[in-house]
Amino acid sequence: MSYLTATTLDQALTTLAAGPVSIIAGGTDWFPARGDRPVTGDLLDITRLPELRGVSQTDQGWRIGAATTWTDIIRADLPAAFDGLKLAAREVGSIQIQNAGTIAGNLCNASPAADGVPPLLTLNAEVELCSANGSRVLPLSQFLQGVRQTDRAQNELVTAIHIPAPPADSHSSFVKLGARKYLVISICMVAVLAKIESGRLTDIRIAIGAASPVAQRL
Ligand SMILES: Cc1cc2nc3c(=O)[nH]c(=O)nc-3n(C[C@H](O)[C@H](O)[C@H](O)COP(=O)(O)OP(=O)(O)OC[C@H]3O[C@@H](n4cnc5c(N)ncnc54)[C@H](O)[C@@H]3O)c2cc1C
Repeated sequence: MSYLTATTLDQALTTLAAGPVSIIAGGTDWFPARGDRPVTGDLLDITRLPELRGVSQTDQGWRIGAATTWTDIIRADLPAAFDGLKLAAREVGSIQIQNAGTIAGNLCNASPAADGVPPLLTLNAEVELCSANGSRVLPLSQFLQGVRQTDRAQNELVTAIHIPAPPADSHSSFVKLGARKYLVISICMVAVLAKIESGRLTDIRIAIGAASPVAQRL
């Protein structure tokens, strides 16, 4: 077993091209999933890649680096359309988990109860994947294929989440139902994004999570 901390994207992609390796971001899904089993195989730590961290505005909308933590998202200066994503970020475990857990880790783990998915579906989010052979971008709804299943190939790294500019004057929210109030897995959750035009709600987008193998836009 080896633990490699990549410091450049090239290094990470070359390591992934060389053979099977487990990608570790915050490790808040990966390590608990091991249970009592010893860690075997090689691990690739991606938390030291600056290009994978942070939220920025682009010509088309917004880019969230794959290893951006939930705390980074909560603190980011974002339009009201992202309020639902921020509310979801505040629901991911405890503050300690939000400090370590990342947006791409939440997506790649592909749990039906991943709190980040419904708000990202309402934002029409796309997933950027890179490998030594190039890059591709696909809608989140295509990236997530089933329980613990994604479209990611073994040699690919999720590098960013892209969000097209949300409609002007759009607002969003997120509500999660759990068995208790705090630090709980969702029984059901709903994210809504709506544009308000002359006092009317238009372009309403609703996504439900934890009620099907993959969260769904209604
Ligand atoms: C106590 C506790 C409470 C939690 N509560 C919640 C909760 O309320 N809601 C919720 O949704 N989640 C919760 N989680 C789960 C977890 O914290 C989140 O899903 C978090 O966002 C995972 O991010 P991570 O960076 O820690 O992922 P990791 O554990 O590092 O990785 C998860 C998976 O994604 C892969 N991966 C990570 N990054 C990439 C990448 N860039 N490219 C390709 N593959 C990648 C890893 O190989 C692994 O398979 C909780 C976890 C714990 C331990």
